[in-house]
This record gives sequence, C-alpha cells and structure tokens, in this order.
Amino acid sequence: MNDTFDVIVAGTGAAGLTAAITAHDGGAKVGLFEKADQVGGTSAWSGGHVWIPNNPHMVAVGATDSAEQALTYLMSLSRGTIEERLAEAFVDAGPEMVSYLDKAAGTDFYAVRGFPDYHPEHPGGLAGGGRTVECPLFAFDQLGEWADRVTPSPYFKTMNITMSETPLGAAVPSMPDAEEMQRRKIHDERGLGQGLIGRLLKACLDRGIEPVTSARVRRLTMTDGRVTGALVEVEGRTSQIQARRGVVLATGGFEWNEDYKRAFLRGPLTHPVSMQTNTGDGLYMAMKAGAMLANMREAWWIPVGELPPGVNRMNRFLLSGDRSRPRTIMVNREGRRFANEAANYNAFGGAFHVEDVSRFDYANLPCWLIFDHEYVRQYGSPGSGSAGIKESGDGQDSVKAADWLIAAPSLGSLAERLGIPAGNLTATVDRWNAQVSEGRDLDFQRGDSAHDRWWGDPAFKGTREATLGPIDTGPYYALPVQSGALGTKGGPRIDPDARVLDLDGEPIPGLYAVGNACGSPLGMTYGGAGGTLGPAMVFAWLAGRHLSR
Ligand SMILES: Cc1cc2nc3c(=O)[nH]c(=O)nc-3n(C[C@H](O)[C@H](O)[C@H](O)COP(=O)(O)OP(=O)(O)OC[C@H]3O[C@@H](n4cnc5c(N)ncnc54)[C@H](O)[C@@H]3O)c2cc1C
Repeated sequence: MNDTFDVIVAGTGAAGLTAAITAHDGGAKVGLFEKADQVGGTSAWSGGHVWIPNNPHMVAVGATDSAEQALTYLMSLSRGTIEERLAEAFVDAGPEMVSYLDKAAGTDFYAVRGFPDYHPEHPGGLAGGGRTVECPLFAFDQLGEWADRVTPSPYFKTMNITMSETPLGAAVPSMPDAEEMQRRKIHDERGLGQGLIGRLLKACLDRGIEPVTSARVRRLTMTDGRVTGALVEVEGRTSQIQARRGVVLATGGFEWNEDYKRAFLRGPLTHPVSMQTNTGDGLYMAMKAGAMLANMREAWWIPVGELPPGVNRMNRFLLSGDRSRPRTIMVNREGRRFANEAANYNAFGGAFHVEDVSRFDYANLPCWLIFDHEYVRQYGSPGSGSAGIKESGDGQDSVKAADWLIAAPSLGSLAERLGIPAGNLTATVDRWNAQVSEGRDLDFQRGDSAHDRWWGDPAFKGTREATLGPIDTGPYYALPVQSGALGTKGGPRIDPDARVLDLDGEPIPGLYAVGNACGSPLGMTYGGAGGTLGPAMVFAWLAGRHLSR
C-alpha cells in the first residue's frame, strides 16, 4: 500500500468522495480509505436528494431564493443550536459546490420540482420547493469492476429509478413502464443515492483516486500538535500512512456504537437505518486529538418499522410516506394520538423523547401505527411499497395485508391485542374520524402544512385529503413503530473550512471532519429533502478547498 499522501480521506460516502475530488483538484495527492468491503456508505443507500438553498438550478423550476432568505430560514429553526457563521458558510458555498461538481465531476444536478422545505411555513421557507437537487440516472457499466463494489440499498425495490419518479419525490409521480425499465437495465442506469455515488466515484477513479476497501482508519498520528497521518488497518495488519497536508474524517455517525449513544444522545435510538460500519470511529479519533464536540445529542431522527427476516437485509424500513397517508394515526400505550403523524421525520423524533414524569418513562414509546383495511387496499401494507396483495379473483374482497402486521376484526379487539385501553383507542379513532369529516385536524394540525400535503396520497398532492382520511373499515391493523435515525449528527466542532476545533476554539492543524462525522453545522435542523447530504457535501467541498491552499 502507498504510504505517503498529501491528504487522507477516511470514508467513501458522499462527504468523503466530495472531499477527495476537491482536494485532488487543488493539487493534493489523495489516499481514500473505506472500512467496509464496498464503497458508498449510507449515501449509496439514500434517495440521493441534496438540499442546497439558492442553487443554480432553481430557476429552471420557477423557484427563486437568496442567501439572505435561506439564512433566515435556517436561523428560524436553530433554537440556539446553529453557529450562524456555519450556516452562512453553508448558504454561501452551496451554489458554488453544485456548479463545481456539475462541471468537474459530472453530477449534472437538476432541481426537483415542487418538493416543499420541511418547515415551509417558517420565515424564509419555500412551500413550492426548488432547494432540493438530484442527479439523473447514471450508467453503472461506466464503472467497470467498481460497479459491483458500490453498496446496494436495502430499502429500494429497484435502483433504476430517480427519487423524482417515486410518489415521494414528485408532484406528479411517473414511475417508468416495463419497457423503459428494461432499457435502463442494459447499461444498469441507476438513480437515487446510487446515481450520486456512481458519479462521484467515477470522478475519483478518473483522477486516479482508487478507494482502498476493508481499510479502517484507526488512529491519527500527530507530530508537535499537528495531524500528520493515520494508522490504517487492512485485514488485521496496521500500516502507518503519512498525510502531508491533513486527514479528513468522513466516517459517518456513531449510531451503531452503543457506548457513544448511551453517553451522548438525548433519548432512545434503537433502530438506525444506516451502514453498520458507522460506529463513531471519527468521533473516537477526534476526541483523542483533543477536539471540542458539538451537537452531540442529535440525530437525523426517523420513525422506523420492523420487518420479519427476509423482506430486506436490514429487517426494517423507514416509516415516512406510509404514516402520512389517509386512514392512519399513531397512538401510544394510552391509546391516544400524540403528534402530527405526517410531520417531517426528523422533527417527529422529538415525540419519542417526551417524558411521562409520573410514570418515569417515555410517554410515546412503545407506540403503533393504526390503520384500516381500506388503507391496505389502496396503498398496501406499510413498508411493502405496493398495493394490497390480491389473493383470488372470485369477486370477493381479496386484498390481504402482510401477515406480520397485528390484525383484529374490531378496534376493541385490536386494542386488546396491543394491551392498551380499548375505550381510549375507540374514542381516539372516533374523534379522528369526526375531525376528518370536518376537514381539519384540530388536535395536531395534520395537513395544515404544505409539507404534510406533499408526503401523503400522491393522488391528492397539495390538499388536506392527501393525509386526512377516516379509519372505519375493518379489519384493523397495527404496526409497532420504533425510534430510528438515518444517522447521528454530533461530532467534533468544526469551523467554516471544516477544520476540527480544539477545546479552546483553535483549529487542530491538519484535521478536518465532514458529513455525519462532525457536529452538524446546521444544528438540529433538517431544512428540506436532502438536508443531510447538502451540508455534508458543502463542508466536504470547503474542506477539500482549504486543503488545496
Ligand atoms: C433509505 C435512506 C434514504 C436517505 N435519503 C436521503 C436523501 O435523499 N437525502 C439526504 O440528504 N439524506 C438521505 N439519507 C441520509 C444520508 O444517507 C446520510 O445522512 C448520509 O449518507 C451521510 O453521509 P456521510 O458521507 O457522512 O456518511 P456515509 O455515507 O454513511 O459514509 C460513511 C462511510 O465511512 C465509512 N467508515 C466508517 N468508519 C470508518 C473508518 N474508521 N475508516 C474508513 N472508513 C470508515 C463507512 O463504512 C461508510 O462507508 C437517507 C438515508 C437512508 C438510509
């Protein structure tokens, strides 16, 4: 293994690849190391949306924005968790990063039409979208032998689509027909996170940056207070690698490290949905080097449903669109609703951390998604991504729900199965149905926000009907819902060049952290679709640029 570089990048998610490309283009010789045996990290599992306010492609979808408006929006969500200079750096550099990668790395980003910000009614928020960009399909056969070395997503049934073609990613979903899908398979054209990672990986390979896989960056080496390299473990053997300019930690979060979760997080995170290799190695190395920490309590929260073995390789799914559709509510062990079920997933995490101080327990864990048979008929079982399974053609209602759901003929018997008060569940559903018929959720304002109206039933996109609907057709079903996250977002505190700061606020020379490996520059906020990859890639670009100076 080559043992001297200008820059070492640890991790091959979107953050690591972006830093590698940018540092190389600034004249650095880059060594890229990946702990897993495949590249791409959680970024390759993702939808590939990247949230960049004021991006150069917004005009094409009729959206307008400004740096001031974007900053107003972000700071309105801060609740004291954002350092304004970091938000400014993000807003200023984002459009440049997009133009740079389009030109230098062939990302070919375009703006997604209509996708609202996640808090569109906040000052500076955009209800009509435009801040989310994605890549077009990318032909994986261009990657040669590397095509099979990108980690496939467990969560999407096919990777040959863009997010914009799914009901979640488009105002008017347009899933390709069978003939088009066949055509895409010829050159293995992939969208989603695969399209993004495929393009960034190709840009690395074209530059002669070949990732070393199964290579875990273990420890930083320091000389006179400066990071000068790292110890990298490959197949049980440790090598000393020199980094003349610096090391970029792009190792993802610590959501798969029980000790770190216990030490830092504000509440339970039992069901991460990210790469299991994200065990907080970057956090460990940064702490050893004397880093100050930031945003440690936070994660990119998301409600998660469990699946029986064999449905996907993570045995879980992200509960997002499914819980926003009509004919669903969520209830706690009291059989009561406790939040706007269609709220954005990151904000929803807060509902799992609410305390019942009398009981000295979490108020809303455990909890369940409750829905009816008509839901299954129209949308399929949650997590299945398709309409209800039809068993026979005998003219009877032959729709069948997935057998791993908890089912009962009446709400009362469902409550009994869940061990929650039957009277409460029935009363909750009665009240929900009454409010649905009035057309307003007076309890939790579900459907009031442009966000909720986007994520529900695509046939009613933009209206309250997208998310409000009665629960009145038995049998009734329940799905236990767990507190999950796309990844944590606490880590070493960084400055606007992504340099890691020490306890006195001074940069630790030669050390950078980006993506979920650093304390998120955007605090606890999730601005819009692509809100994790956006800052990850912008600060990776800033790190690469700083390393080029
Ligand atoms: C289904 C799904 C859909 C999503 N959709 C979106 C979306 O559309 N938009 C969005 O913004 N976010 C989305 N997310 C979240 C997003 O994927 C992550 O927040 C993002 O990928 C984090 O990027 P990263 O580069 O920091 O980390 P990762 O992509 O997870 O990469 C970290 C890499 O570092 C490697 N690593 C760890 N330790 C070491 C070590 N010691 N040495 C070397 N390598 C190491 C890991 O193996 C991993 O490959 C989604 C997540 C999921 C699961």
